[in-house]
Amino acid sequence: MKRICVFCGSNAGTNPLYRAAAERLGRLLAARGIELVYGAGNVGLMGIIADACLDAGGTVIGIIPEALMGKEVAGRAVDHRALTRIEVVNSMHTRKARMAELADGFIALPGGFGTFEEFCEILTWGQLGFHVKPMGLLNVNGFYDPLLAMFDRAVADGFLRPQNRAMALADSKIESLLAQMESYRAEPVSKWLKEEKQL
Ligand code: AMP
Repeated sequence: MKRICVFCGSNAGTNPLYRAAAERLGRLLAARGIELVYGAGNVGLMGIIADACLDAGGTVIGIIPEALMGKEVAGRAVDHRALTRIEVVNSMHTRKARMAELADGFIALPGGFGTFEEFCEILTWGQLGFHVKPMGLLNVNGFYDPLLAMFDRAVADGFLRPQNRAMALADSKIESLLAQMESYRAEPVSKWLKEEKQL
């Protein structure tokens, strides 16, 4: 993987473990020569990971919708001009498509609706076979346990195939998550269970 897209909170969360994980991931990407692609925000975990990666000599590519430009330069953390590269796009949808196009893999750190939505959308694209890139949840402090349980529930209740459920990699440790992602081989199967149930 040459570039990883990180989805993460535009808030930093209350537990310092979240901030620490964002810093460590940013530094590790820089150390491994993996470029960081993200939403270009300078707020919350987004600003923290970008700062950490840049400070460690890494490459950071930010993709930002025009409408968010003003809101996110609010003077903290990363100065947009300090990013290695910034692409201004016309909508949130274009941003996600561009991040997906640029990256070889995706990691979600803890976050809120935006983070959940971005990660679930990229999973959805994976299960439809639109891409075969690895997708991992960095399960810091067990933050994603309830979401993983929700995925299992969707399998148990016949909304999600186990093979597609398996596309959502997860690990509490950055190194092991990256190792899982490196060895990941997508095996997209039809997302629909209907035919099987009718047999
Ligand atoms: P959230 O988890 O709701 O804080 O949303 C964070 C995710 O959604 C990031 O990965 C961004 O791509 C996108 N996003 C939401 N709000 C912002 C914001 N204020 N600045 C930049 N990106 C944002």
